[in-house]
Amino acid sequence: MEQIVTVIGGGLAGAEAAWQIARRAIPVRLYEMRPALMTPAHTTDGLGELVCSNSLKSDQPGTAPWLLKEELRRMGSLLMRIADETRVPAGQALAVDRKLFSRRLTEEIAGEPLINVVRDEVKELPADGITVVASGPLTSDALAASIALFTGTENLYFYDAISPIVDAASLDMSMLSAASRYGKGGEDYLNAFLSKDEYLAFYDALIRAESAPLREFDRPRYFEGCLPVEELARRGVDTLRFGPMKPVGLTDPRTGRRAYAALQLRRENLIAGAWNLVGFQNHMKFSEQRRVFRMIPGLENAEFLRFGQMHRNSYINSPQLLQATLQAKTRPELFFAGQLCGVEGYIEAMATGLLAGLNAALLSSGQTPRTPPPATACGSLARYVAAEQKNFQPANITFGLLAETSAEILAIRDKKERHRLQTQRALEAMTEWMDAALRRPVASG
Ligand SMILES: Cc1cc2nc3c(=O)[nH]c(=O)nc-3n(C[C@H](O)[C@H](O)[C@H](O)COP(=O)(O)OP(=O)(O)OC[C@H]3O[C@@H](n4cnc5c(N)ncnc54)[C@H](O)[C@@H]3O)c2cc1C
Repeated sequence: MEQIVTVIGGGLAGAEAAWQIARRAIPVRLYEMRPALMTPAHTTDGLGELVCSNSLKSDQPGTAPWLLKEELRRMGSLLMRIADETRVPAGQALAVDRKLFSRRLTEEIAGEPLINVVRDEVKELPADGITVVASGPLTSDALAASIALFTGTENLYFYDAISPIVDAASLDMSMLSAASRYGKGGEDYLNAFLSKDEYLAFYDALIRAESAPLREFDRPRYFEGCLPVEELARRGVDTLRFGPMKPVGLTDPRTGRRAYAALQLRRENLIAGAWNLVGFQNHMKFSEQRRVFRMIPGLENAEFLRFGQMHRNSYINSPQLLQATLQAKTRPELFFAGQLCGVEGYIEAMATGLLAGLNAALLSSGQTPRTPPPATACGSLARYVAAEQKNFQPANITFGLLAETSAEILAIRDKKERHRLQTQRALEAMTEWMDAALRRPVASG
């Protein structure tokens, strides 16, 4: 007899997980705490409520968000099907009518006889049984406390302090030097140098830059260790020179003298060809980040792969805790999915929900959980959250995140062609994997 599976959270990840489990003829108990207890961002009792934008990003072949969506479609994602059915005109993006999307999803889940929706807050992680935890970035306080007991408080984060990431190809390497501050870090760091005049102009622009609007529940309760860079700057003109921009031990190659201030860029291990602006987490508008950070010598034409952000976001330190099947290392019947497992974005939440659901179903029927191949977007996301890495932060899907791209494809200079071939390889790999591993009987209907 297959075990009943518990899913906590009827958001994007949890609803998809529950559906995948039920489609494999396994009964599910899906807990959703709304409307009895609302999150600070949700406003309805609907499953899969989109709390902010109604866009699921680009639906243009040749982009990474399209690839992930296409994989989800091929894997039989319920949420992608409903998204396609409820789409509204939005150029090359897939945007949905959010009310219709959530209503249709709620109806489909309610109409699935193997899913029992329980409108109740789960206050503690179940002590046993197969469970998918998909309670999202705004997990209720009681459950968050219970998760912290399981993960250790140091492995459950409540805020995202994200530094911008720039494309290596857009940097002026003649202005940057690979020196590292205390002789540590080797080639993993680059430095950008500022003279006194350059620093003062940058400082002035930084403290005057326009902030991104704050939502009530994002009201800052910053940890001293990760203040937004503009906030730190406002404490005094030299604060940055004694903090993230300290020039200690660094010589400005333009003058041969000690630099007045320096920005350190750290190689992003898991996103090829990308550099992180160390300590530059911030809460500025994206357009302002582009304008102000481009004032730094060497970054004049920087292309931003990700902008800095600070927002409320519960997620676990997955590299310490999870396998690439989304199972907890120390308790394999416990799965984490959605934003909580360290992915960022609507489709990424759906993708990890689908994978956790599928694997919970495999485990429930006595089979071994699996991870899609590393060439695929879905498989790469799962590998990203489980990969050993320092400074783990939630990630969106990008081509740079793909865990396996052949050297031949990587050597192609034309970005469009490279992405076309990565896409083709990912979809072939996904089809082969589904044929070999995933052909399973489905529930009726
Ligand atoms: C304010 C905000 C805005 C965002 N905007 C965007 C955006 O515009 N675009 C984008 O791509 N991504 C956005 N994200 C990131 C992310 O994609 C979404 O949060 C996404 O909904 C995450 O999916 P999820 O399934 O992990 O969580 P959710 O969709 O939030 O689902 C979690 C569900 O669990 C329920 N729940 C929580 N605790 C319990 C409990 N103890 N018991 C039972 N149920 C519980 C919640 O009510 C909720 O329904 C945003 C995140 C936040 C916080």
